[in-house]
Order: sequence, then C-alpha cells, then structure tokens
Amino acid sequence: MKYISTRQQEETNIKTAILKGLADDGGLFMPEYIPQLDSGFFESLPNLTLQEIGFRVAKEFLGESISDENLKEIIDEVLNFEIPVMKISENIYSLELFHGPTMAFKDVGARFMARMMSYFSEGKPMKVIAATSGDTGSAVASGFFGVRGIEVYILYPKGKVSPLQEKQLTTWGGNIKALEIDGTFDDCQALAKQILSDEELNQKFTLTSANSINIARLIPQSFYYFWAYAQLQKLGKAIVFSVPSGNFGNLTAGLFAKKMGLPIHQFIASTNENDVVPKFLETGNYQPKPSKQTISNAMDVGNPSNFERMKSLFSNDVSEFRKEIVSYSFSDEETKNTMRKVKKDFNYTLDPHGAVAYLGLENLRQALSDNISENFVGILLETAHPAKFVEVVEEVLKEKVIIPEKLEAFNKKEKQSLEFSVDFESLKIYLMEEK
Ligand SMILES: *Cc1c(COP(=O)(O)O)cnc(C)c1O
Repeated sequence: MKYISTRQQEETNIKTAILKGLADDGGLFMPEYIPQLDSGFFESLPNLTLQEIGFRVAKEFLGESISDENLKEIIDEVLNFEIPVMKISENIYSLELFHGPTMAFKDVGARFMARMMSYFSEGKPMKVIAATSGDTGSAVASGFFGVRGIEVYILYPKGKVSPLQEKQLTTWGGNIKALEIDGTFDDCQALAKQILSDEELNQKFTLTSANSINIARLIPQSFYYFWAYAQLQKLGKAIVFSVPSGNFGNLTAGLFAKKMGLPIHQFIASTNENDVVPKFLETGNYQPKPSKQTISNAMDVGNPSNFERMKSLFSNDVSEFRKEIVSYSFSDEETKNTMRKVKKDFNYTLDPHGAVAYLGLENLRQALSDNISENFVGILLETAHPAKFVEVVEEVLKEKVIIPEKLEAFNKKEKQSLEFSVDFESLKIYLMEEK
C-alpha cells in the first residue's frame, strides 16, 4: 500500500509516512485507497476480541511492512485496557474510550504511534518533540514512556495547564522530559517547529514530531467502531455514531471504518461553538476562524487539521460529505444542561465532550420522523473520563467526582520539569548537550 500526501506532491510507504508525520509539501498522508475487509471478517465480527479486530484492521493498512507476529504483539500492548459499550438509555449507548492510562481516547492513538515509530526506527535513537496545551501531551508521554530508543521532549505553557494535566506531563521521568515554557501554547508550538527545522539539531539527532496528524494515530482509532458495532449488531437496528470533534481525527477514523465495509448508517459530527465544519456542511464554504474557549476545551479548534483528509475522502465535494455526515454545534449552556439531565434521568455522568456528542444524537432524533428515530441505535464516543474535567463536572452537577486511582496516582508523584523562557537558543543549547 502506498501513502500519498493530501497535496499530491509526495508518495511514500507506511514506514516513512509514520516516521515523518507530515509530508514535505505540507499535506497529510493518506493510504492510496481504503482497503476492503471481506465478508468472512464481517460474519465472524461478533465473535472477535477487540485485539483480534485491531489486528485484522491494522494489517490492511500495514500490509507486509510488519510481520503478523510483531503486529499482534504491538496491538496487544496498545489495547491492554477495556473499551466497554455502556447502555445509557433504550437507544443510546456510550462507547467508553477513557479506560487507558491517561483516561482519554488519545491513549489509543498515541500508544500505537509510539510503538510503530519504535518498530520502524529499527533501534536507531530518535527524539520526539511535542508541544501541548494539555491532553495530547499526556497521552503522548504515556504512550512513549519506556519505549526503547526514543526520547520525548514535551513543551508545555507554564501555568496554563490544569494541575492534574501538569502532573500527567511532568511525573514520568525516564525517557520523558517535560520542558516548562514561560509563554503560551502558541509559543510552545513555534519553538517545537524551530527545533524540528534546525539544521544543526537535525544533523546530530533524528527528530520527529508527535502531533495529531500522524497517520499512525488515525489507524487504531478505527478499531473501536468495528468493536462497538460488533457489540450492538444483535439489536438489528441502524447504527449511528456521534463523534465529539475538534481536529476530526476520530471522525476520519470512523469514515475509514465505513469505507472498509462496516455498515454504519450515519455519522454525527458534534462540535462545541467552534463550528467551522457544521457551517461548512450548511453553506458549502470552509472558513477557518480563531478558536473560541469552551468547557469542552479539547475540541476548541478553529481550523481542524483532519479536514484536509476528509476532503480527500470525499473528493472535495460537499454533497458527498452530506451523504455521510450531519453536523451540529452546541453552546456550553446546552452542554451543561445535558450533563445534568443525563445524570438525573439515567444516573450516567458525561464529561463535557461526551455531553456534546449526546446532544448530537438527540438533535438527530428530533430531526427525523418518529418512525425512523425509534429505529436507530445511537452510540456516542465518550472521549474522556469525567474526572479529567473535575472542575467543570463538579460545578455543573453540584456533586463530588470520585477521582479514579489511576489519576490520583499522578497527583501523588513529584513534578519534574525544566524551565525555559521563550528563547530558542537556550533550548537548543540544552538539546545539543543531550545524548
Ligand atoms: C482530542 C479530543 C477530542 C477531539 O478529537 P478529534 O479527533 O481531534 O476530533 C474530543 N474529546 C477529547 C476528550 C479529546 O481529548
């Protein structure tokens, strides 16, 4: 399988696509076609384990670039936690993607990316540079922790991440170094770019970035659409997924699953007030704007990076988008009301991101005639544990959120970070002295 940049100027194999992340022409790597799974796979689907599904799906994208044995080992390591499908109400289920080490869905992508990078770098030492505003960094740190041959440098803005997020970035030790930058997230991102493009640093080290555009983060995110479908297939109803979206990686992975043959009836792209995609589907015009701050802040994105991938899947034709996706935007007020309502009616605690997805399902049900709306099962992707957003959830629900042991463990550990001002030269001096 070849991998081709969305801007068409670069063609390569999966190994290079993963090690580089971004294509030289500035585009994102896509498989040259979406592979099809055969009918035998779909017949056996209800009886497969999550790991077996992961292996079969990943194999289609990776082909002969990795042996079955090595791939199986990697998949088993990546998916060493549960992804349960929980019933909220008669026709609404929550796909809980937050049972990994940092309790957010980004664990799935980051763990796979880390292991694939390590595998393809063939023991050659590598340095991964990642700028973070919070959640991505912790999943990346956790995903790479202890992965041989790879040193990770996380740049985060001092005083601008939550206390728990900071602990999740700074308490790893080992091959994970937290660099605390006295500036904003944008400063961190600019510094990361400077590091990655610096000639001297590139001569001395193999550098790569671990951002969300790497194709290795997308592939494993398609596994759980098959898995959730397999659990609910027996209900004999049309299946709709509502995906709380920011950079649209999760949704793009769902589109992969459908194109591979999974009979998903409909996707809902649910967003907060950052509504470029809902607006695009409405008007046909794509207009990026600066992001707005909301309570579902992992989706505060004004120019979703995976839009370029979706465009290529739909041949840049808005009517093709509209066949697969409906998209709605919701306010913080609506999100909070939904968190309260779902807690009261069904005793289920949604985090703000999951609540946005829940709203999407309700909206679609209202938009359809009663007849059809009774006949679909809605699955919302619950992308984070409510305790990750404890401040918001406690304020909205007016009750204490129990912090799981996994998160509490971070709070108990000692912060280790190196402080820098927004100054590339001093960072460079530090990095040059690294091994
Ligand atoms: C990153 C993130 C999202 C958005 O996912 P995308 O793939 O960027 O659309 C949603 N919820 C949570 C909790 C996240 O961390």
